[in-house]
Amino acid sequence: MYNLEEFITNLEKRNQGEPEFIQAVREVLSSVIDVVNSNPVYLENRILERITEPDRVIEFKVEWEDDNGKVNVNRGYRVQFNNAIGPYKGGLRFAPNLTLGTLKFLGFEQTFKNSLTTLPMGGGKGGADFNPTGKSDKEILRFCRSFMTELYKYIGPDTDVPAGDLGVGGKEIGYLYGQWKKIKTNNESVLTGKGRTFGGSLIRPEATGFGAIYFTDSVLSYNKDSLDGKTVIVSGFGNVAWGTVIKATELGAKVIGISGPDGYVIDKNGISTKEKFDYMLELRSSNKNVVKPYADKFKAEFYPNRKIWEYPADIAFTCALQNELNGEDAKKLIANKVKYVMEVSNMGCTADAVDAFYKANIPFGPGKAVNAGGVAVSGLEMSQNSQHISWSSEEVNKQLQNIMKNIFESCIIEGKEKNGFINYVKGANIAGFKKVADAMVALGY
Ligand code: GLU
Repeated sequence: MYNLEEFITNLEKRNQGEPEFIQAVREVLSSVIDVVNSNPVYLENRILERITEPDRVIEFKVEWEDDNGKVNVNRGYRVQFNNAIGPYKGGLRFAPNLTLGTLKFLGFEQTFKNSLTTLPMGGGKGGADFNPTGKSDKEILRFCRSFMTELYKYIGPDTDVPAGDLGVGGKEIGYLYGQWKKIKTNNESVLTGKGRTFGGSLIRPEATGFGAIYFTDSVLSYNKDSLDGKTVIVSGFGNVAWGTVIKATELGAKVIGISGPDGYVIDKNGISTKEKFDYMLELRSSNKNVVKPYADKFKAEFYPNRKIWEYPADIAFTCALQNELNGEDAKKLIANKVKYVMEVSNMGCTADAVDAFYKANIPFGPGKAVNAGGVAVSGLEMSQNSQHISWSSEEVNKQLQNIMKNIFESCIIEGKEKNGFINYVKGANIAGFKKVADAMVALGY
């Protein structure tokens, strides 16, 4: 029998200085500990020790020249967390101060998220402590080339298939794939999130946001409610926020706020026109990382250096970073009568925030369920590439909707509590965990 606190104490000893990884493991284990303790097969197979240890961690040096001719050195990583149900799959993150601990938390989360999609994908994550903000296109190209010159040794279409994450969008994936082709002289589906002209899938850029809204729509329908007329606030202003804003608007909600590291913008007219959506994305891809220009251009309100969670709305979506919504923020949202909170960023909410929503009976969707649409369409991109075909956007969208519906239903099956309240955190964790654990048992150690 496992004792959660004892297990976490040992885990902390083995993974010192990695608080986000410990936080992510604690979150999953709190949900699944009873399932494990009541299953002798899981106990006998030492599943918890094995599932919390990455299969492999790769670390490498990335050298590149900036526009002034100066040579820079960054650290690159790939964490191949678990391949029990399929090739390692998960994004690459370029962010200053990125640590191995962050990537281990992300790889761990990815393992269960990918399991939830029902597609055969294991979990991995990678990236570099490279800050893309303020870098020129040429600098990004040189960095990506150098990064792939190391990474190519460890990945492959049936081994490990990276994609984008924070700081890695379509442009970076293009440069990385270009270098892969130079080195390997082939077109294997070794990256997803590729451009449309070289093997990318329709709907991939907007998939995470679209999927998040499909999931939210199911949660609201389950509560005999609808998105129609709901006010929405979103943190972030990149691809994920963009897809979320577009689909929420399409389904009748009114998105009134977005945010960036410089503060937040409230546009009471709604972020609802193509011009506004496109501008949001343009801001993000300009590598400047600020939202104030949106307020200037569309005469919206700008609140410098403040978090958007203080602003009243019916639904809040975290679309930026881990731990971006804490217990204090949760209190403000609850006091302002938020009706639903959806985590679109990976581990966007701290444990005390999640707890506060639970105690206030506010339906809360966890990242690994809500944001699974992105990696799901990555999986569909792999399927199309391996068959050398390209599906229509209707086809991809239909499959995405089905996948999100399945994830929602798994949450209902595993997360329904005695009083009928749906604990989506528990539901997603148990459903995602069981499949990986069962595969590990079947494969032996
Ligand atoms: N980075 C995304 C995630 O967190 C997508 C990963 C992928 O498409 O492989 O799920």
